[in-house]
Amino acid sequence: MRLFDEHVVLRFALLLACFLFAESIPDILNFADRTYSFVPYFLAIVFLAYVALFYKFPVSYSKKIRNDVEIPEPKAVEPIRDLKKDLIEKDELFQMMIDVSSDGFWTFDVATGKVYWSNRIAKMLDADVTTLEDSFDPLKKRVIESDWEAFREQLNAALQTSGTFSCVLTLLDATKKDAKLVISGRVQSNGMGRPIRVIGSLAEAVDRKSIERDNYKYVYQDALTGVNNRKYFLEKLKSDVDIAAKRPDYVFAVALLDIDSFGAINVSYSINIGDNVLRTVADRLKSLARPDDCVARIGPDVFAIILHNIQSRDPNDDLIPLVRNIHNKVKSPIALDGKDLYISVSMSIVVNQDVDCVEDILANANASLRDMKKGINHGGIQFFSGGIREKAMKLYKLEFEIRRAIQAQEFMLMYQPIVDIRAGNRIVGFEALVRWNQSERGIISPAEFIPIAEETGLIVPMGALILRMACKQTKQWVDMGFTDIQVAVNFSAKQFSVDSMVDDVRRVLAETNLNPRNLKLEITEYTAMCEADKTIEIMRALSNMGIQISIDDFGTGYSSLSYLKRYPVHTLKMDKYFVDHVADNEEDASFARMVIGIAKSLNLDLIAEGVETKEQLEFLYREGCRLIQGFYFSKPLNADMALEYMKAHYNVPTQGSTFETEQNAVKA
Ligand code: C2E
Ligand code: MG
Ligand code: MG
Repeated sequence: MRLFDEHVVLRFALLLACFLFAESIPDILNFADRTYSFVPYFLAIVFLAYVALFYKFPVSYSKKIRNDVEIPEPKAVEPIRDLKKDLIEKDELFQMMIDVSSDGFWTFDVATGKVYWSNRIAKMLDADVTTLEDSFDPLKKRVIESDWEAFREQLNAALQTSGTFSCVLTLLDATKKDAKLVISGRVQSNGMGRPIRVIGSLAEAVDRKSIERDNYKYVYQDALTGVNNRKYFLEKLKSDVDIAAKRPDYVFAVALLDIDSFGAINVSYSINIGDNVLRTVADRLKSLARPDDCVARIGPDVFAIILHNIQSRDPNDDLIPLVRNIHNKVKSPIALDGKDLYISVSMSIVVNQDVDCVEDILANANASLRDMKKGINHGGIQFFSGGIREKAMKLYKLEFEIRRAIQAQEFMLMYQPIVDIRAGNRIVGFEALVRWNQSERGIISPAEFIPIAEETGLIVPMGALILRMACKQTKQWVDMGFTDIQVAVNFSAKQFSVDSMVDDVRRVLAETNLNPRNLKLEITEYTAMCEADKTIEIMRALSNMGIQISIDDFGTGYSSLSYLKRYPVHTLKMDKYFVDHVADNEEDASFARMVIGIAKSLNLDLIAEGVETKEQLEFLYREGCRLIQGFYFSKPLNADMALEYMKAHYNVPTQGSTFETEQNAVKA
């Protein structure tokens, strides 16, 4: 029945007409001869009553309808569409939206009291959708009673007003103690305003605090160690600098802690062990710092602490005892796999006095750290002082100068002879040693610039230059008839990490036309251990080309000896450190014997470096050593002098040489 729609007046007019017709029927029935003449009247009454009560009059678009919303007349006639197909598509689309949504959906039929739950809700309630009861009971059983009562009240209120509602339900489940659900709904009414169903959603409540916590972790926390990260540290430092700018009595200090030789821990043990060391150091720092202090990891193996609110301007009062305690405890041995791992930590401290910006504090702390790592204070504590910054500035200047010197080709090579003491002190080759010929300062030793070149990566272009110079020079000597001469060139770890390293060496050999057997590369144990697999691959490629490889400064590294079996190595160079006291210290002598023994048993050549005295030489000769490099025979020479040396010591009689004669005299 549609009596009270927008055509109510028309419908009542038609009903009135029905009554009027009905009233005239008795009069018609009075005429006996026209017994059936009331039938048309009766049919008209039925027709009018039907139209009045059930006919759906077309709605004019131009009319104002409910809520005074004007709906404009459609401009063009819409194409006739397949309504059934449309509905199916909409239904599928709706179903897809329900399926992909992370929320669950439900409907409640007011007339039957039945509830339909979507799959997602069944999952939220850990139930099977096919066996889930079609009432509110499954939800009621899972949430705390007070929340359920609140929900019921809100639902009833919404049903009264055809409105919407939303409330939070706490799950009873012990394992999901904090889990909460948000239930929301909207009442759907019929044309008369009576509620026919409620359509709603159920979602897992988002815990804003935990999101904030997660965001904080992501932005400000170091993922590996759980302490603050560099970003947080810098922001905190900035806020301390700002406070100090307003309050001159506010003193704070920044401590940087660098784990010495951390790369070696990673290389000698494993990256996992390295990670464990970092985590242990971070945990220790957290427990050693005061609650208000900020502990952060600001570099791969560098930690920082902002020590807030230092009470006294005299560091002896509270700062020194505090940092000493931290330093002592942080470097205590770390127990890993039942063994103690010893670590060394360098710690530099800057107090905020005299500096008023973050950059200066960090630059000073870094300069101090860098300075102590190079000197004897390595592994200790150092308070920043003005002189350190000056030194740092000098280093920076040096770096700039090295860059310029590479361009200007100011580097030159010296060649130190390597002689065979069992073949009449015959020269077998040279080690090429770089020197910087600077216009203002004259010849500068590699000890001054190679570490900086390595640190800054400048060693790569510099090394390429050195290799080219050495190969060119060697080729000249080979062409002069010194065909067996072998020149060793030092290579650093950074050069080995360049992907094109093997191709670069091959190209230089081709360009200088040098036979690879006249070239030797010297790498330290540390270089050999860095990225071991990649390094072995490079060494194999070089060795396959015919280039020999020496392990320089052998015995001073951190490695186990087993690596020697895996690496294509031809020569070990015993470091000067072992040679120095072989003649006067029995312990050093046994050490040297051990190194000579290792070379012998692995069938490798051994060169003793830094031999200066006759006594050292006699010892080495006695122990079976053959190749010697050192001032005893010659200091590094420039190319002309090296040529003279070669002329004198290349074609020598291999028997009855001066040394052997002397040696025999000693023996006798
Ligand atoms: P190294 O490769 O171990 O070179 C041996 C060093 O010991 C050289 O110092 C040499 O002059 C010195 N030496 C040799 N015999 C004696 C001796 O009997 N007594 C004393 N006191 N010293 C002796 P230098 O030339 O100052 O080189 C120092 C280090 O600089 C080298 O140690 C090497 O690590 C590095 N270096 C030198 N040239 C290059 C280069 O071209 N490239 C790279 N990457 N490093 C280089
Ligand atoms: Mg060397
Ligand atoms: Mg050496």
